[in-house]
Amino acid sequence: MPLCPMMDPLRLLLQKSCVEYLMKGGKVVVRRNPFEVAQAQLDECAQIMKLDPGVHQLLRVPMREIHVALPVRMDDGSVKVFQGFRVQYNDAKGPTKGGIRFHPEETIDTVRALAAWMTWKCAVVDLPLGGAKGGVVCNPKEMSQGELERLSREYIRAVYTLIGPDKDVPAPDVYTNPQIMAWMMDEYSKMAGKNQFGVITGKPIPLGGSKGRDKATAWGGMVTIREAAKVLGIDLAKATVAIQGYGNAGYHAARLVRSLFGSKVVAVSDSKGGIFNPQGIDPEEALKCKSETSSVVNLPGVERISNEELLELEVDILIPAALENVITAENAPRIKAKIVAELANGPTTPEADSILHQKGVHVIPDFLCNAGGVTVSYFEMVQNFYMYYWEEDEVLERLDKKMTTAYHTVLETSKRYGVHMRLGAYITAVGRVVEAMKLRGWV
Ligand code: NAD
Repeated sequence: MPLCPMMDPLRLLLQKSCVEYLMKGGKVVVRRNPFEVAQAQLDECAQIMKLDPGVHQLLRVPMREIHVALPVRMDDGSVKVFQGFRVQYNDAKGPTKGGIRFHPEETIDTVRALAAWMTWKCAVVDLPLGGAKGGVVCNPKEMSQGELERLSREYIRAVYTLIGPDKDVPAPDVYTNPQIMAWMMDEYSKMAGKNQFGVITGKPIPLGGSKGRDKATAWGGMVTIREAAKVLGIDLAKATVAIQGYGNAGYHAARLVRSLFGSKVVAVSDSKGGIFNPQGIDPEEALKCKSETSSVVNLPGVERISNEELLELEVDILIPAALENVITAENAPRIKAKIVAELANGPTTPEADSILHQKGVHVIPDFLCNAGGVTVSYFEMVQNFYMYYWEEDEVLERLDKKMTTAYHTVLETSKRYGVHMRLGAYITAVGRVVEAMKLRGWV
């Protein structure tokens, strides 16, 4: 059966195998194109759901995207032009929502993929929001605070007409943080001529940020791990955990998996490499080491391992919390974890998904596992709108309910259709977006 009018099976095969080429440290790196991964995942879901070809085609592409050139005065007096993107994927369920990533390897297809996943993420936790994403090709590690502030403000000036509290609401992502959100909110408010706290989420608490937002992504992931462990009969107090990436998502995951469940974190990593200690790693010591020396790899008394080795460790729970496409058909057969909890977006390729499923690995798919961040971002929008702020325990209790419901809905859907969890999540989310599009009369 043709998947959609524009796609014959050969074209799909070519697309599925499509890669992109990036320059990294003077070398050419071949990388799976993340948007084609996102499209391949949707195609599989559309086939199972027997989606109407027109509906399928509409869901395969972003509704709107903008490419911007951002001139920024650097500290040495020169002007550097950065490339930026904002992709609004689908707004059938409400204003679009999605982070802004600052990364030297950012590409439009990464942003498109992340925007698609945001659409499914908001839908899987049943938020009244659509999906979007933004990005700027830059290396924040090589920029001063002043340069970052000027870049952040320039980005907002470039996308001003497209975003807004009831249109499209950005948030932090890789290498962007609450300070950057504060500058962006300030720039938007100045242009609007009034305070517009609701234009952006992930703000510092004194500027309308929500309590609990800093740990929300990891907390939501913990709720899904807790529910999965109940289903699989895993005792989390005895479980071992490996975490790839030690930023917002990875650090809080390390801290919470220990404090909430008593699990042992045996390996963590960042862009410089990984560390392993079968006796356990203290998450706070690893954080201190990272903030003092810029990497967890300098922690004393541990074994140095590579990021690749970390993924293949003999652990109960593996938490990818860094970048895309790290679990592939090549290494999936060697993954030994019982649960793969995807805090990162897009860490597993579709081929790897099937292998993990056949091996009986329980994958908690990215847009379900890491939906805690957007859920509390949505709570932040609600609080900004009402100008009334909740205590942290109230935020986390509401988050727990949303995540628990979403996990079990996905699990039941995957059982009903006889498919793995990612497809269960897709069927749940896509079904809700299609319902909204139909009710609006789009399709
Ligand atoms: P972050 O910038 O705070 O941290 C990223 C971490 O990944 C850093 O420790 C960095 O050193 C590490 N890293 C970078 N390249 C790496 C590599 N090649 N190998 C191993 N580690 C590498 O970012 P974050 O907010 O923690 O986001 C991490 C992932 O979680 C991303 O995929 C992001 O899209 C996803 N996510 C984050 C949130 C959130 O609220 N922060 C929400 C949803 C999804």
